[in-house]
Amino acid sequence: MREPGKVWGNSEATSDDFNVIIVGAGFAGMYMLHRMRGMGLKAIVFEAGDGVGGTWYWNRYPGARCDVESVQYSYQFDKQLEQEWTWSEKYSPQPEILEYANHVADRFDLRKDICFNTRIDSATYDENKIEWEIVTDKGHTHRSKFCVFATGCLSSFNQPRFDGIDDFLGTTYHTGQWPHEGVDFTDLRVGVVGTGSSAIQSIPEIAKQAKHLTVFQRTANYTIPARNAKLSEDYVRSIKDDYAGLRERARQKPAGYDIPLNSQSVLEVSKEEFKSEFQARWEKGGTQFLAAYGDLLLKPEANEKAAEFVKEMIRDTVEDPVVAELLCPTNIIGCKRLCVDTDYYKTYNKPNVKLVDVSETPIDRILPSGIAHKGIEHQFDSIVFATGFDAMTGALFNIDIRGRDGRSLKEKWDGGPQTYLGLTTNGFPNMFTVTGPGSPSVLTNMLPSIEQHVNFISDCISYMRENGHSKIEPELEAELNWGVHVNEVADLSLRSTCASWYVGANVPGKPRVFTPYIGGFPRYVERCKSVVANGYEGFSLA
Ligand code: FAD
Ligand code: NAP
Repeated sequence: MREPGKVWGNSEATSDDFNVIIVGAGFAGMYMLHRMRGMGLKAIVFEAGDGVGGTWYWNRYPGARCDVESVQYSYQFDKQLEQEWTWSEKYSPQPEILEYANHVADRFDLRKDICFNTRIDSATYDENKIEWEIVTDKGHTHRSKFCVFATGCLSSFNQPRFDGIDDFLGTTYHTGQWPHEGVDFTDLRVGVVGTGSSAIQSIPEIAKQAKHLTVFQRTANYTIPARNAKLSEDYVRSIKDDYAGLRERARQKPAGYDIPLNSQSVLEVSKEEFKSEFQARWEKGGTQFLAAYGDLLLKPEANEKAAEFVKEMIRDTVEDPVVAELLCPTNIIGCKRLCVDTDYYKTYNKPNVKLVDVSETPIDRILPSGIAHKGIEHQFDSIVFATGFDAMTGALFNIDIRGRDGRSLKEKWDGGPQTYLGLTTNGFPNMFTVTGPGSPSVLTNMLPSIEQHVNFISDCISYMRENGHSKIEPELEAELNWGVHVNEVADLSLRSTCASWYVGANVPGKPRVFTPYIGGFPRYVERCKSVVANGYEGFSLA
């Protein structure tokens, strides 16, 4: 059904044909819209939520905040924006990041071209017209020359279907779909399932309110204290005075994040020296801990030194030795994403907090009154599922995407995603993914990665217009070669060796493939630049 003249955001649209349709109004979709408008293109964004911000719109759980320093986890495309926005904390809380997203939307007047509360159900390529046909959950159809999926790597939440889950008489929550009005756990008995980043941020906050909190842990995770703090005026001024320098230094770093890197091997220094380095980084806080030595993610014996240090910290902090041992991870540090916390381990010293190990015996089922484990009934008023996301491909597979000859993306990627640069895939002309599988995305500070991707896509569309092309598609050979390279670099890193969401292990039935590109931001950017310099090498243009 076609319905011209309906309300978009705040204004009326007069047509349902666009140059570019963008799906998602997180940081990626917002900047994509801004760039398209700047090029004089007619673009529209469809967003399932009723506001901008993506991750920061949905993940409103207590304690949610970024773990890349805010002054770096921010847009850099507009110098004035950088100067006028002031971050209040080293790692800003979710409300402030959402406020920033809203500020950007207002400042660049983005809302009028965003259609909120609208989920895209399908996207089909029409080979005759060289157009994409998009169908919304309201049954409306729209067409465009280009389709850009800015649907997010961590936006399709993972809710394990425990037996009895629908019978629970209390309230259940998922950290990735938190109620906008907030939740008051005062005097309640609360169960939290999961001990990933979302759980590790929310558990200390929930424990402050709840009468009793029980955490169900399947895999213990490593977490480093955030040492979060308010930013002083002087510090903010010094950043604003040299934002360009900061961004440039960050661009040279593998994670697109300016942190102190040491390329030395931990195996070549004395025990006293590496312990003192780990201690200094533990005191400083944050993910820079893993940058203490160059081989921590390359050699198990090097990794063990950092892992042992963190385990010592856990044993020093957690008073009950049995609980401390349960909290000590047994896998590679940094293999699953390193967490960053405020008072996580200390929280287990509180009398109202209990840890239940479900590593060997899974949760039996959900009961009307709580959670059954090993035949024991744990009674709750509320259960929080901090069980993560169907990462990287989940949001794309929620949409029935069909390319040339009606082939579905889901079928094509049945054995694991195949992309060229994480941005495009053969058989799906004029379709782009921002932070798609095979791009650095989740292994980097995502804001610079998002901007780089959006700039690449925008420049590509601009090149096509200037050179009279109407269709772009990656060649199969280029895609296969990129896939080989993505796997080769993944195999060098210990990160690819454990059952993490990076390899799809958290979702039953997902193929075990290391999806993000681990070769580093600078190397990726160089590759993109050389593709462009060579006339969009690896792409076929018509
Ligand atoms: P998202 O923000 O996920 O936005 C995607 C949007 O697409 C969503 O609003 C969604 O509703 C919409 N959408 C999806 N499918 C459809 C559809 N079919 N129809 C319509 N709309 C759709 N990264 C960092 O670099 N540093 C951090 O500190 C950090 N912290 C994080 C904390 C949390 C709790 C989480 C979950 C992730 C964090 N990330 C962090 C990663 C974060 O996802 C990215 O930094 C960034 O916000 C992603 O932006 P995006 O626009 O690509 O995707
Ligand atoms: P996650 O890291 O995937 O953690 C999910 C947790 O749920 C894991 O502990 C997992 O155990 C557990 N789990 C899943 N299914 C379970 C089941 N059936 N039974 C018992 N336990 C189960 O998800 P997340 O914490 O939401 O984080 C996802 C990513 O988002 C992060 O890695 C990070 O990239 C980003 N994030 C960042 C921040 C930040 O600090 N800025 C905060 C939140 C999220 P297993 O480990 O055994 O699978």
